[in-house]
Amino acid sequence: MDELLRELPEKAKDKHTENKKFFNKLKKKPPKKLDYIMQELHEEEFEQTDCLTCANCCKTTGPLFTDKDVSRIAKHFKMKDHQFISQFLRVDEDNDYVLQSVPCTFLGTDNYCSIYDVRPKACREFPHTDRKKFHQIGNLTLKNVAICPAAFNIVEKMKQRLQ
Ligand code: SF4
Ligand code: SF4
Repeated sequence: MDELLRELPEKAKDKHTENKKFFNKLKKKPPKKLDYIMQELHEEEFEQTDCLTCANCCKTTGPLFTDKDVSRIAKHFKMKDHQFISQFLRVDEDNDYVLQSVPCTFLGTDNYCSIYDVRPKACREFPHTDRKKFHQIGNLTLKNVAICPAAFNIVEKMKQRLQ
């Protein structure tokens, strides 16, 4: 997995123009069965990919924390929301709460998330490849394929399937 993760940004860069064209086309005319196809491709991929051998999303990029995430996680630590925010979060250029630093503070050396049951919604949903109306998040997915080997594979299979 280490070698795969090292090579991934370069592989994603090589596919960038092709992927961009693909998502532009997809956005204009998404197939009727897209939600169903994405669900299938996502499940197939995650039957083979073990996130515990990877954790690249937790190591290289952080999630956004919604107000609900903050309250839930602060409660888990028996902290006030503002205490949790000042200890772990910062406000980014889009005015969202994000981690002060990566790798994520809550990631263990064994790649387990120490707040798994209360983790942010964005962590639960990453890499968003099973979400409905997937064609609407082409730009985000173009970035995610450079971080997430599963998302990279799903997009490659998606291109083959929809051609
Ligand atoms: S979601 Fe993607 S980047 Fe995150 S751990 Fe799983 S395979 Fe790795
Ligand atoms: S909160 Fe957990 S799942 Fe989310 S980035 Fe941190 S370690 Fe990963």
